[in-house]
Amino acid sequence: MTPENQPSDPNSIELNPIFARPGEATALPKTRLPEEESLPETAYQIVHDEAMLDGNARLNLATFVGTWMDDHAQRLYLEAADKNMIDKDEYPKTAEIETRCWTMLADLWHAPSPEGTIGTSTIGSSEAAMLGGLALKRRWQQARRAVGKPTDKPNLVMSSAVQVCWEKFCNYWDVEARYVPISEDHKVLDGYRLEDYVDENTIGVVAILGVTYTGMYEPVKQIAEALDRIQESTGLDIKIHVDGASGAMIAPFIQPDLEWDFRVERVASINTSGHKYGLVYPGLGWVVWRTEEDLPEDLIFKVSYLGGDMPTFALNFSRPGAQVLLQYYLFLRLGFEGYRRVQQNSQDVATYLSSEIAKMDAFELWNDGTDIPVFAWRLKKGHTSNWNLYHLGERLRTKGWLVPAYPMPDDLTDLTVQRIVVRNGFSHDLAEDFLEDLRAEVAYLDSLDGPLPSPSAGAGFHH
Ligand SMILES: *Cc1c(COP(=O)(O)O)cnc(C)c1O
Repeated sequence: MTPENQPSDPNSIELNPIFARPGEATALPKTRLPEEESLPETAYQIVHDEAMLDGNARLNLATFVGTWMDDHAQRLYLEAADKNMIDKDEYPKTAEIETRCWTMLADLWHAPSPEGTIGTSTIGSSEAAMLGGLALKRRWQQARRAVGKPTDKPNLVMSSAVQVCWEKFCNYWDVEARYVPISEDHKVLDGYRLEDYVDENTIGVVAILGVTYTGMYEPVKQIAEALDRIQESTGLDIKIHVDGASGAMIAPFIQPDLEWDFRVERVASINTSGHKYGLVYPGLGWVVWRTEEDLPEDLIFKVSYLGGDMPTFALNFSRPGAQVLLQYYLFLRLGFEGYRRVQQNSQDVATYLSSEIAKMDAFELWNDGTDIPVFAWRLKKGHTSNWNLYHLGERLRTKGWLVPAYPMPDDLTDLTVQRIVVRNGFSHDLAEDFLEDLRAEVAYLDSLDGPLPSPSAGAGFHH
């Protein structure tokens, strides 16, 4: 008898219909460790099914973070899932590839000499921003101590529309956060009245390339010129850190003439998120300093590497190494031209969507997606008092689209906007589907006779 012909064993685990076995027909505890083991199939199915209740990542128009990679990347990801980035000695190739990646970025961002720069991968832009901020703080402290001045009141100057990581930096490292409010006239930090905010205790100015709320670029060169004037009149030499979480992987490819990077001499350091427009799955950021001198020596630790020491500057110790390999894969796979085409395509989709949304009676654009492929709109004054953008967000969610509505930051908090982040994988075809749903939901809301009750919390604002 061949095995296939053997009579079936009614107790065989494989034969039992899935969902009808022990542990599947009942619920497992959710707040304490289960007493006993489960079959791997059972545990898998339960976790898989719960995750199914999450929104569909590809329809998440709220996030900046990568939600699509090709099959080769998926394969590499699985193969490299066991790599720990900190084990430089054990995985010297991964360590070398990390260095190649940030050296390529230094070159892309016009560092005066890519060999004389220093950089690192991080878990994301938040960690990268902490490192950039720490380097500014330490340099300021050293300069102050050298001339016998106190170092107890550092401050950092930035737009009120900064990403939350900068609030965290200031809170965690005891730096006073000085926010320059944005307004209808100054939609981004542009150097206007900067002299009112900086003083001898300013460790640096953050310029954002791609403001999270709206996708707009802050004019780094113009901010640097304002700081030049301040230096002329006060002698203060204040450096800029560019938070290029998204824009540092857009501008080099589709706005190559825009001077926002190390071409601007005041720019000491730049961060980006490999997992945003670097096109890698979540868990990767980068930070690069203009020169080795911009990163104070005493912040650097040494880990063992091929019998010697390798410098590291990081908040974490262990961290996945796979994302670094994925970034390198994409650098090789796409090259400059490939990135240019991908980012240009995202921008084309963004400007198409914004132009169609601008045609709708209900809305008014805040910006149009010509900086990074991100734009926001508001409800036109006087259009309706029956519904607002939170209601619209809820309606769109029933179709699967996650499009957050949220208030603008300080001084503009009365203004609610809705934002779309166009990423690789949001095709023209999907954009058409989205517009169709958007028009239908607006028509539905407009057809209501009276005001809707206040909506529950919407899709949420993704920083
Ligand atoms: C997303 C974002 C961050 C935070 O980046 P993570 O990679 O999510 O940690 C910081 N600054 C800006 C401008 C961002 O858009």
